[in-house]
Amino acid sequence: MLKKCPICELNYIRGNETMCRTCAAERTRRYAAKSEDEIIMCSECGEKPALPGHDLCEDCLKEQKRQANLEILADKVRADEAEDPLEEDISETEDEED
Ligand SMILES: [Zn+2]
Ligand SMILES: [Zn+2]
Repeated sequence: MLKKCPICELNYIRGNETMCRTCAAERTRRYAAKSEDEIIMCSECGEKPALPGHDLCEDCLKEQKRQANLEILADKVRADEAEDPLEEDISETEDEED
């Protein structure tokens, strides 16, 4: 018993099949391509899918941004500290010599 493939309506399939071999192959190929494109696991935790265009999942991206902000803050603090101690060192040296 043969019927036409409901997807391409070109090839005939057996009664217990849902699509012809051509359509089945095409669907498998598309599904594989789709899952390769869209489901990339996070390179940081490897437990969650990465966001499109990123290597990291949402949580790890947030963490990375947080760390980046902390480093910028730390750099500012270091820059501020680097200016002050110089003056203190000079005054301390003067006191010790006296
Ligand atoms: Zn078909
Ligand atoms: Zn992650």
